[in-house]
Amino acid sequence: MHYSNGEDTTCRLCTRVHESHDHLFFMCRYSLQVWKYIQAKAQTRWPNLTWNSLVEWTSRRCQDTKSTNNKIRALIFAATVYYIWQERNKRIFQQLSQPASTVGEAIYQVLRDQIMCSNGISLADGTREIWNIPRPARPIRVIGQDR
Ligand SMILES: [Zn+2]
Repeated sequence: MHYSNGEDTTCRLCTRVHESHDHLFFMCRYSLQVWKYIQAKAQTRWPNLTWNSLVEWTSRRCQDTKSTNNKIRALIFAATVYYIWQERNKRIFQQLSQPASTVGEAIYQVLRDQIMCSNGISLADGTREIWNIPRPARPIRVIGQDR
């Protein structure tokens, strides 16, 4: 099987429809399963899923940098788009495919690591529960600040 100069524009995730940004990231039934998975795990929801509205919505929300939840949502958004894109490329270039739940779980795990390792982010108890992040054993002190 060979492609003719990339002229095949069928979506690789569902192999049913013409591929566009909106389709690939938000309307494809495969991608929707990935979004559904990560939204359920992260207990968050986006109002409506289209490329333009999401980019706009996310950048507006991210300006509010004080909110940890908004930061996390921005991370989820970026990671999910990235992983969907990766899955598409794996199918095209490596003939590998994974179920949506595997991709969703990978996103959850990588975000968990990111959230756990990010300094200066204060997590509410509910957020720790969602991401399964233990509370620090003792309060973290910044060296040189307490005297
Ligand atoms: Zn599709």
